[in-house]
Amino acid sequence: MPLVAWGYLVFVAGLLAGFGGIALVAALAATAGIGSSLVRRSITLAALSAMLLGGTLAALSAGKPERAKRFNPTDSADTTTLAAARASATKAIDSLFGPDAPMARALLVADQHEIPPEVRDRYARAGMVHMLSISGLHVAIIAGAVVLMLRLARVPPVSASLAAILLTALYVAVIGAPAPAVRSAVMLGVVSASRAVQRPTSPWASLALGGFVPLLDPRTVLDLGYQLSVLGIAGLVGSAALAKRLIGGGVSGVRALLVRDVSASIVATLLTAPVIAWYFGRISLVAPLANLIATPVVAVLQPTLFLALILAPVPVAGRFVADAAHPLLQIFDGIARVASSLPGASVAVIPSLVTVIAGGALVAALLVACLSRYPVRPVSFAAASLAVVVWSPAFRLPHSGEMEMHVLDVGQGDAILIRTDRGRWMIIDAGRAWPTGDAGRSTVIPYVMRRGGDVIAFVLSHAHSDHAGGAETVLRSLRPKSFWDAAFPQGSEVYQQTLAAARASGVGWHRVHPGDILPADGVTLRFLAPDSSWMSDLADPNDASAIAIVEFGSTRFLLMGDAESDEESWLMRNAAGELKADVLKVGHHGSSTSSTDGFLAAVNPALAVISVGAENSYGHPSADVLAALGRVDAQVMRTDQLGTIVVRTDGRTITAEARGKRWQVSRESREQ
Ligand SMILES: [Zn+2]
Repeated sequence: MPLVAWGYLVFVAGLLAGFGGIALVAALAATAGIGSSLVRRSITLAALSAMLLGGTLAALSAGKPERAKRFNPTDSADTTTLAAARASATKAIDSLFGPDAPMARALLVADQHEIPPEVRDRYARAGMVHMLSISGLHVAIIAGAVVLMLRLARVPPVSASLAAILLTALYVAVIGAPAPAVRSAVMLGVVSASRAVQRPTSPWASLALGGFVPLLDPRTVLDLGYQLSVLGIAGLVGSAALAKRLIGGGVSGVRALLVRDVSASIVATLLTAPVIAWYFGRISLVAPLANLIATPVVAVLQPTLFLALILAPVPVAGRFVADAAHPLLQIFDGIARVASSLPGASVAVIPSLVTVIAGGALVAALLVACLSRYPVRPVSFAAASLAVVVWSPAFRLPHSGEMEMHVLDVGQGDAILIRTDRGRWMIIDAGRAWPTGDAGRSTVIPYVMRRGGDVIAFVLSHAHSDHAGGAETVLRSLRPKSFWDAAFPQGSEVYQQTLAAARASGVGWHRVHPGDILPADGVTLRFLAPDSSWMSDLADPNDASAIAIVEFGSTRFLLMGDAESDEESWLMRNAAGELKADVLKVGHHGSSTSSTDGFLAAVNPALAVISVGAENSYGHPSADVLAALGRVDAQVMRTDQLGTIVVRTDGRTITAEARGKRWQVSRESREQ
């Protein structure tokens, strides 16, 4: 059946294109060939897969401009009826749900941008992150609830499912037709239609039809929600076949139900594990259990949220139902909270491309084993893949217990990378740009790629081109989870391009406020400035630099951007208690307009790092600043003399490394 071929193709293309993109055509075609010959023992299928894969990837590489992602409703000039309906739904959700609105928006209209990164990390650790993105599950639950209600009202089954399909289609359109929801709606339509005409359909065929979106917009295969959704359904189909074989057909009762649910939970978790490992740098061990408990909660929560939204025109009724949803949301979040905090809930990994592809082959073989009546061959293939995953030296469990700050040598400019104790990155600034390139492409991206690990956040200290020049390429290539900056009112052209790149790459943008926190693994980055009222009457973006303090254990690193003496005094007035730090990234490349004596006394750094270009035309760093740093007895390290500088800490002691040498940074004498 050609539909099966299409389904398989879209599934593998989504998976692999998400991992590596166009450079992988050969690997993709080979994997498709192996997989399909295992499933169908058919050369034709293998050839068809390879051909269509090539087509999808060619479309990808042609650089089709990406559709604006749901990012910021105000910057889409979309004035269609659907967009208007979506905007009014969002407004209704905000007024109905109050503090629950960010979660309700994620679950109802697929708008995740107000869910803080630490919450998303919590769900990833619990193995529940797919439940945050509007997925097929939500659509299916809503459709199921509609059918149930209509059947209770004695509406005949065919009319009930027709009504459910229409309502579902309308809903999917209103929320902006995200691919997973489209997939689910189409599958529901196919299954209902096949039931209505009493012609049974293979679940793979309906999955294939549901997964059609990449044929219209190839970039959909890169969408995490789409990948999880297709893999999740494949897992359900596979586990249903497995459960049937384990307990035999026609058996009912608690035991059968349990076998079915547990195997569904385990198979779906296994199938999505390589993708989650790639995006979130972790494998959730608690996921099968968490999903088993959370699924029934979502089954009640989702229709409740939906009902509240429908009843929104009648405020009393809408609010009543929204209030009823509140405890359910609490329970849902509670499950994620408890599951993620269990000891050993998840393992942090830094998957390389090789391990992820081997992991993908492993889970594909397991799926085939679930379906096959003769599972020996796929199981041995799975064992071989497992051997590759385990043996591959790139697969390590990185819990170094150390945080690192990498001050990259990007000439005149800043590019500072914070690496967490689990190998993930926060990037502050990306160096300058020049007519034929930028420091993002030449330095930052290769530096991160060689070491591996996800980029959690990109912070732009301010929009001057020696900090923002490489930001656009960094956002496009490394796709951080979030993008933070101070949004200085007079945005430069390079800043506009950076924002556009964030939008095009689907990176959520956040405006920095004093007190905002970015926690990641054992590291906490907290913004101290700028305050928006302080910023409103400034002419120079330097003094609106985003200032961050990074804490790990008892050590503190203060990152000053290009702040000058005015912003330093603002900090001394408004954040005096926060300024003490062991390591100072000196403001404005050591310019004499920054680093006043009073400020340096408040920070009292043991180590001062200056990011500055050799022989720069500004005369940075100034002799006065070097003398002032000497007066507070700080060791000074400069990128123009040492190249890239790496500062490491285990939370108590600090070492610095450059040009292959290591130094101890002494904090002891400063503790009093
Ligand atoms: Zn600068």
